[in-house]
Amino acid sequence: MSTFTCIGQPQHPSTEWLIDGLQQTFANEGYEYLNTPEDDIKLVFNVVDRETPRPYRRKAQGTFVVSIVETEERPQEVHKEAYPYLVRSLANHLMYVSHLEDSTELYFLTPEQGNYSMSFDNNKQDDQVFDQIYQRLQPLASSQLVIDNDFYEDLPESLWNGDEITDSLSASGKKLDEMNLLPAPFPLEDVLSERDIRHLKKLYGIGGLSYGNLSARKDEENFWMSASGIDKSQMSEVGKDFLHISGYDYEKNKMKVSIPPNITPKRASVDAIEHWMIYKEHPEVGAIVHIHAWMDNVEATEINYPCGTVELAETVARLVKESEDPSRAVIGLKNHGLTITGRDLDDIFNRIEGKIIPQVPMH
Ligand SMILES: [Zn+2]
Repeated sequence: MSTFTCIGQPQHPSTEWLIDGLQQTFANEGYEYLNTPEDDIKLVFNVVDRETPRPYRRKAQGTFVVSIVETEERPQEVHKEAYPYLVRSLANHLMYVSHLEDSTELYFLTPEQGNYSMSFDNNKQDDQVFDQIYQRLQPLASSQLVIDNDFYEDLPESLWNGDEITDSLSASGKKLDEMNLLPAPFPLEDVLSERDIRHLKKLYGIGGLSYGNLSARKDEENFWMSASGIDKSQMSEVGKDFLHISGYDYEKNKMKVSIPPNITPKRASVDAIEHWMIYKEHPEVGAIVHIHAWMDNVEATEINYPCGTVELAETVARLVKESEDPSRAVIGLKNHGLTITGRDLDDIFNRIEGKIIPQVPMH
């Protein structure tokens, strides 16, 4: 059975009402409430203080943490004000509760920089809000991350310095930068202690919070992909910037990465599982680009599953499969961005040029 808990002390009666209601709703839906969290607890609601947003320190990767932050004002720029709390409290999801005179506004933020909102009237606190929150959070909380890597020092020596494909990835990374599609990585060092950064890296295997990625097929089984947390406009080194992804180990739930010997590799992008599924299913796909931007008339996912989950990978792979030409698909990831397939990287850039909308629609 999935277990959950709520920790921290709400300051405002509306937040107390919210937490009680959520506790009731999740319990009604079959989640078991624990007073003392067990190591592999599934879901934690963590009410954090604005001054010192203390993280909940997960023992397991599968623990989904929703941080709750209260404010007395309506945020002017939700993302700018609230996103640092998501990072500082090491959460998978942030609920930013804005207590206004007559109403309460709820803003939800994801690590992928997505957000959506709900609100309710303070005078008629309607229980429906709990179901709405449950419907949004439950699929995310129960999704499965595939972000661990297994490194094999078996990359053929002829590839240690890259090949024409890594050259094309490097050129494409520069192009993304010129198109303004590489938002600055979130400055983790500015808001997190060294200990917190270590915790994030250990648990989530991320090298940093940067956004977007790109890959290109090497052959039937393998592809090259940008590594996690790197500056995609400056890619040069094999094992650090470009990773040679050679498969997915179902049993261990890990991505397989081939590297040159005697290096300390960077981690694969969390979306490697998604790219892997698409390459495997569609031999004619030669390249994939993922950006946090949008285009008109795209088919989009209905649930904003987190990056690096099997569920997101499967949903995107299914939409690619259902598209008119899977080797030239543009798939929308709700509240997040686009995944674009092509015969090769040039094919992708030729098709998207002039059609990119910088702002991802949020709902
Ligand atoms: Zn993304």
